[in-house]
Amino acid sequence: MKKKSSSRITKSFGPRYGFKLRRKYGEVVLRYKTKKYECPNCGKKTKMKKVSLGIWKCPKCNFTFAGEAYNPEV
Ligand SMILES: [Zn+2]
Repeated sequence: MKKKSSSRITKSFGPRYGFKLRRKYGEVVLRYKTKKYECPNCGKKTKMKKVSLGIWKCPKCNFTFAGEAYNPEV
């Protein structure tokens, strides 16, 4: 019962599903970071900035809009 420090991190972030989740997340991030989306305000195709989950921002006109969590398309 003395092994405390080393096992603490793995408890909350299980390596079992941390890997799968991280890979999936990486794919999604790569998709929205490289793809260009049409802005609903200015109509320009640009790389949307993610403000928070489901909230996107157009860097051209600073228009903020709600889209899907991992996809700015509406
Ligand atoms: Zn715009």
